[in-house]
Amino acid sequence: MLNEIEDVICPALSRRIELGYCQDLQMAVDDEIVWSGVQDRFSQEQEKICLACKKRKDPAAD
Ligand code: SF4
Repeated sequence: MLNEIEDVICPALSRRIELGYCQDLQMAVDDEIVWSGVQDRFSQEQEKICLACKKRKDPAAD
């Protein structure tokens, strides 16, 4: 079962990810950390999806 506090459905990756990993991905998109530190590497399209993602402000958002 989905734990909305610890897991989010990521629209950029089309899968469930841990909230901590979502935050890592956000930091990579925002150039706060390097992409080599995270498992996935977003395409430009995925970066656009992430920049517009409501889960940046509210992890429980749809
Ligand atoms: S903020 Fe970015 S990494 Fe997190 S769920 Fe949204 S698209 Fe995925």
